[in-house]
Amino acid sequence: MRTPKHRAARVVVIGGGISGLSAAHRLIELSSKNAINTEVLLLEGSGRLGGVISTKVKDELILEEGPDSFITTKPRALDLCLRVGLESNILETNDETRRIFVARRDKLVPIPEGFSFAPTRIRPFVMSPLFSLLGKLRMSLDIVLPRRNSKEDESVESFFTRRLGREAFNLLVQPLLSGIYGADPGKLSIRATLPHLAEMEEKHGSIIRAVREFARSKNGASNGSATRRYNQFISLQNGMNEFVEVLASRLPEGGIRLYKSVRKLARNEKGWSVLTKDNESINADGVIVAVPAIHASALVRGFDPQLGDYLSDIKYSSSIVINLIYNRKDFSYPLDGVGFVVPKTENTPITACTFSSVKFPGRTPPETVHLRCVIGGAATSEAHDRDDAWLTDIAHNTLSPLLGITSEPLFGVVSRNPESLPQYAVGHPEHIARIDTRVQHYSGLELAGNAYSGVGIPDCVRSGEEAAERLLNRT
Ligand SMILES: Cc1cc2nc3c(=O)[nH]c(=O)nc-3n(C[C@H](O)[C@H](O)[C@H](O)COP(=O)(O)OP(=O)(O)OC[C@H]3O[C@@H](n4cnc5c(N)ncnc54)[C@H](O)[C@@H]3O)c2cc1C
Repeated sequence: MRTPKHRAARVVVIGGGISGLSAAHRLIELSSKNAINTEVLLLEGSGRLGGVISTKVKDELILEEGPDSFITTKPRALDLCLRVGLESNILETNDETRRIFVARRDKLVPIPEGFSFAPTRIRPFVMSPLFSLLGKLRMSLDIVLPRRNSKEDESVESFFTRRLGREAFNLLVQPLLSGIYGADPGKLSIRATLPHLAEMEEKHGSIIRAVREFARSKNGASNGSATRRYNQFISLQNGMNEFVEVLASRLPEGGIRLYKSVRKLARNEKGWSVLTKDNESINADGVIVAVPAIHASALVRGFDPQLGDYLSDIKYSSSIVINLIYNRKDFSYPLDGVGFVVPKTENTPITACTFSSVKFPGRTPPETVHLRCVIGGAATSEAHDRDDAWLTDIAHNTLSPLLGITSEPLFGVVSRNPESLPQYAVGHPEHIARIDTRVQHYSGLELAGNAYSGVGIPDCVRSGEEAAERLLNRT
């Protein structure tokens, strides 16, 4: 970014999701710390901030239409929450009932304790009714199977079926990953989604041995960082939107413009022209593009068609979230876990369900049960055309036999998230390296968002903050 001598440098952040908000906040934080005169302007195409983060409040119940929590072991989101004064609003998820189940033939079977994409404890696996004897034996072969003789990327499906066998893949890995990525693991890149597991195989030759060693060393070590003080997943007392609102409140007055959809970026002699759909042209010294890659592609295509093509090569999947509220007296089974995942082989469009009233204790009245179902993956495209009543029925009919529910829900809220999750295809890391190389040609241009190096909220916060840091460092 070229810094003007007699006026503030203007940086335009495009996109008001968590990536764009984190970028804008970091620009202000660093500018103030280093006495840099920066004017930050965030342009959001829709009428609200947050992107896929959206909290709805109905009958005093907090319903998350997108993400409901985030992980603390990747610390960037937690650190940001603490820096913006959200410490007393942090809501820790229930650590006493951490069990997750797998839905299997109208029953919920617990995922064996200590599963971290491979067993870290042997006994719970041996005892688990989830796998056949042959499936368990096949999994244990990982300890003796030779490591792969290639550093090339491969699909998640190929990696896990090779190391742990088809049954472990079908019953555990596929449903767990489709809950996170809504993706076909036959296409997902192992090096982009679970790079530590690919590295474990390279280093230790066996993922079971490596994850067990890691779990042991983690138990013994204390790094003293903030993440240690919190449970693995956290949310905020009033829902995820609190994060969005606090970040927005930290931006200067007039620094956010809603309904400002950007259609094009162009270079000019001073830096950049940001052209909006309503034909405004805004000059900027630096630009952070924090919109999904499919939209970013259209913005850059005018000055770099190759970069435009690379960005549009990143495909997205859609998902639907269905929040359901029931009377507790209508449940005949105990809710002794935080939710369940559904293998593709079960043939229902529901891919996962969170027992929200258990996961977030104290947020739902005791006489009520709050469940949150997700439809993701291949089933979503068909389900998207269905109306809310049909989707609520499908969710309810899937849940009833599994949880012994005897009455209809009090109400349901259906939320559609079209093209919201990027699919990290095999070769994604190399693809991102090509994108980075092209972006580096342009002074004052940075990309941020969930398309590049992680889809979770902590990854998006990191992506936004690092884009801001790079932009100011390249000044
Ligand atoms: C259903 C669902 C559940 C999830 N659950 C979790 C979870 O529990 N935990 C977790 O860590 N992660 C979760 N994720 C992932 C995580 O929430 C997302 O990856 C992250 O919020 C994406 O943020 P973003 O800012 O990169 O993109 P987005 O949220 O997509 O924001 C992009 C913004 O850019 C705007 N925009 C687009 N085009 C333009 C334009 N031309 N001009 C101006 N503005 C534009 C959009 O309107 C939008 O506001 C979930 C995702 C989904 C879809």
